[in-house]
Amino acid sequence: MIRSMNSKRMVEKYIAPRGIEDKRVLEAMKSIPRHHFVPEALFERAYSDHPLPIGHDQTISQPYIVALMTQALELQGSEKVLEIGTGSGYQAAILSLLVKQVFSVERIHALAVQARKNIEALDIHNVSIQCSNGETGWNEYAPFDCILVTAAMPDEPLAFMNQLRDQGVIVAPIEEDGVQKLYRYTKSNQQYTREYLCHCAFVPFIKS
Ligand code: SAH
Repeated sequence: MIRSMNSKRMVEKYIAPRGIEDKRVLEAMKSIPRHHFVPEALFERAYSDHPLPIGHDQTISQPYIVALMTQALELQGSEKVLEIGTGSGYQAAILSLLVKQVFSVERIHALAVQARKNIEALDIHNVSIQCSNGETGWNEYAPFDCILVTAAMPDEPLAFMNQLRDQGVIVAPIEEDGVQKLYRYTKSNQQYTREYLCHCAFVPFIKS
């Protein structure tokens, strides 16, 4: 099947022009085929800059936001990263090319199973996916260098503090007064400083 769009063109059209400059992030976004992570009926829309439904009332995030969040982690290559909200596995696949090891937690069993299949089919071997509620992180593999939350949290990610190394970074969408904002938190001496990145629209983070 000939596609009019692919991940390389998607990056050139929607991601690089909007100010994503980290070359490693741009290369990773070019190498992972996004259509692989959406239902077949949506293949033709996989390279537009939009979130898309993946079943169970959940979505694969907009590619630009994936790029922005990934860039905000300032990855060097040796990190151990925790993602909360595996969804389709697309964000985890992007991270897999940029860090040493990715751990990802998804509360919906069917999505965790499908995400594992999506990742295995691309021959990616440094991603571990666990089906559980991510509100307490994934203690077994802590501390992490970075934590990425891909569902909108009702409050600050304090529960993850002890699973993050000192000077580690969390990127998370937080809902405040009905508005979602993406923040980058940096841990220092058991406290966070936070920095606003942009407004955003994620599915809600579900507490158990
Ligand atoms: N990162 C995903 C998109 C995430 S959509 C991708 O690349 O496709 C948000 C996901 O977070 C959904 O799959 C939802 O089921 C999951 N989620 C929401 N609350 C959660 C929680 N408390 N623990 C684990 N997963 C959660």
